[in-house]
Amino acid sequence: AKMALRERICFYEAEMDEAARSRRVMTAALWEALERDEFHLHFQVQRKVSSNEVTGLEVLLRWRHPEWGLVPPVKFIPLAEECGAIVPIGEWVLRAACREAATWTMPYKVAVNLSAVQLGDEHLAAHVSAILAETGLDPRRLELEMTETAIVVDKVRSLHTLQQIKALGVSIAIDDFGVGYSSLETLRTFPFDRIKLDRSFMTEVEHTPESKAILRAILALGRSLNIPVLAEGVETRVQLDILGVEGCTEAQGYFLGRPGPIPTDGIIRPAPPPV
Ligand code: C2E
Ligand code: CA
Ligand code: CA
Ligand code: CA
Repeated sequence: AKMALRERICFYEAEMDEAARSRRVMTAALWEALERDEFHLHFQVQRKVSSNEVTGLEVLLRWRHPEWGLVPPVKFIPLAEECGAIVPIGEWVLRAACREAATWTMPYKVAVNLSAVQLGDEHLAAHVSAILAETGLDPRRLELEMTETAIVVDKVRSLHTLQQIKALGVSIAIDDFGVGYSSLETLRTFPFDRIKLDRSFMTEVEHTPESKAILRAILALGRSLNIPVLAEGVETRVQLDILGVEGCTEAQGYFLGRPGPIPTDGIIRPAPPPV
């Protein structure tokens, strides 16, 4: 039976109310999550394609709510960005990551994600500098990852901030590369130390010749600009082999290691045996 127009509108409004309500509830919970110690970090290894050697670990934020359980980052990060909670949360992530990395027995790099809101904060470089001093982490072991979308919100401010951060000795990576709309322009303007190729390339590369051609072109670009390229989302041996053949130097993905808590003695568990 068809719903009358008015009924349908009411139904729609009720749904909208519900969505708005749950967003409000989650936003409130986010603001309390720091105090309640509900966040923890996971780490995912980054490896050399040729030797399997670990080069770094990306930090991935996890939120365990007492009632809702683990809330995925794709759900709460955008909300945290909208309401501004990402600033104190992001600072917590940075501090916790640097503190942890400083205890590792191996001097791996630690890669921390930054959101647009953090990049727009004029005090970012000062915060980073203070956290490095406080934790004693060698700045050369810290890498900050940011997407092109985050950078272009305010290009002038971003460039200034990134230059200040680089002056500290910290490196920067462009995340999710290749899915933005003006990636080449961004590469030309910003002083990136690493390109992280979006994981969508890996899902396509086995199946479409176009994707492989684009992968090849990006790797060539990285080589001529002297910027190492790390492929994200490597899930299979076949994908890893393709990267090796095409001369991609670094990779990250479930095949090379899933995100997880790292043992406190800093010894990284070996990669799963190749299948
Ligand atoms: P991202 O920075 O692109 O991080 C990589 C995401 O891909 C992670 O999801 C990771 O678990 C997942 N991943 C890694 N390897 C594979 C693979 O082989 N296959 C597939 N399908 N996925 C893989 P996660 O942890 O759910 O994080 C999602 C996004 O949330 C991140 O994307 C990042 O944008 C954001 N995020 C996570 N932690 C933070 C943080 O501390 N700060 C900020 N600002 N954003 C964060
Ligand atoms: Ca990232
Ligand atoms: Ca990414
Ligand atoms: Ca992403």
